[in-house]
Amino acid sequence: MIYASNFKTNNTRAYTKEYINTLDDFISENSIKDEIYVFPTATSLNMFGISSNITIGAQNAYPVKNGSYTGEIGLEQLDEFGIKTILIGHSERREILKESQEFIAQKFNFFKEQGFRIIYCIGETKETRDSRKTMEYLWSEFDGIDLEYDKLIVAYEPIWAIGTGVSAKKEDIDEVLSALRLRVKAPLLYGGSVKSTNIKEIASIKDCDGVLIGSASWKVESFCEIIKNGQNQ
Ligand code: PEP
Repeated sequence: MIYASNFKTNNTRAYTKEYINTLDDFISENSIKDEIYVFPTATSLNMFGISSNITIGAQNAYPVKNGSYTGEIGLEQLDEFGIKTILIGHSERREILKESQEFIAQKFNFFKEQGFRIIYCIGETKETRDSRKTMEYLWSEFDGIDLEYDKLIVAYEPIWAIGTGVSAKKEDIDEVLSALRLRVKAPLLYGGSVKSTNIKEIASIKDCDGVLIGSASWKVESFCEIIKNGQNQ
C-alpha cells in the first residue's frame, strides 16, 4: 500500500520536523513496509534526517529551473532539499487556482523530463457524477499526460468527497478504479475523507493500491493510526 499525506496549507516547519521524526520512529518500530509519502508546505521542505521509507514531496512547483515567477518555487529550490516527488493536478489547484489542463500537462511534462515521481490527481464534481459523465470527465483530465510514465502514480479523488468527512462508497470507488485500471498500469490511489475508521474497507478494494489523505493526516498520531489500521489487507 501507498499512504500519502497532503498537508495543504497546514502545519509549521517546526511541527513538520516533529511530525516526520515521530512518523519515522513509528515506521521503524512497527516494521511498516508500505510506501509512505508526505507533502508538507513549501516552507517545510526538508528530509529532517529520515531513516525509514518516507518520501518527502512538493505539493506544487512551477515548471522552470528558476526565473521570474513571483511567489512560485522551481526546480532549483526543490533540488536544494533533494525533492524528487511532486503532486500535480490536485482539484484545489484546478478549481481554486484555475490551473488549466494544458498548464497541468506542461507541468507534468517538465517534471517527467526531470525524472520526478508524480502523483497525478483526477476527480469529478458532484454535478458531473450526477449527470453520469464521471469516466468521460476523468479521461479528459489525462489529456497531454503520458500514462506509460514509469514514475507515475494516479490518485482518484472525487471532489465531492474531499474535506467533507464523507468518503465515496466502496462500490463507487471500486467501479471507477476498475475502469481506470483498463488503461492505467500505474498504482491507483483513492483520496477523499480517508480516515482511521474507513481505511480497512478502502484498502480492501481490488484495484486500490493506496490512499492520498488530507485532513485526517495533518496530526501525526492520526496518520500513524491510519497506517496501522490499514495493515494486512
Ligand atoms: C485531498 O485533498 O487530497 C484529500 C484527500 O483531502 P481529505 O482527506 O481531507 O478529504
